[in-house]
Amino acid sequence: MRATSCARPACPGRAVAWLTYDYGSRQVWLDDRPGPGGDHWGLCQAHAERLRVPKGWSEQDRRAGGADAGAAAGWDPPAALVS
Ligand SMILES: [Zn+2]
Repeated sequence: MRATSCARPACPGRAVAWLTYDYGSRQVWLDDRPGPGGDHWGLCQAHAERLRVPKGWSEQDRRAGGADAGAAAGWDPPAALVS
């Protein structure tokens, strides 16, 4: 798999977790690897652990060693998520 950088602006980290989202159901998933299709965003370890979804959305961590959902603070959704 090709190495991919974290999607967060100015973050030099390498992506280790993959965020996928669905507008219709306002659901966000975190996975160990990119899905077969659709939009996904790579996140480095630090940003994946600090993930918090926008208000009204829910998060499901499907990673094998996943962190607890809803922990910590400070995630700004990608512009595509909120526009
Ligand atoms: Zn990062």
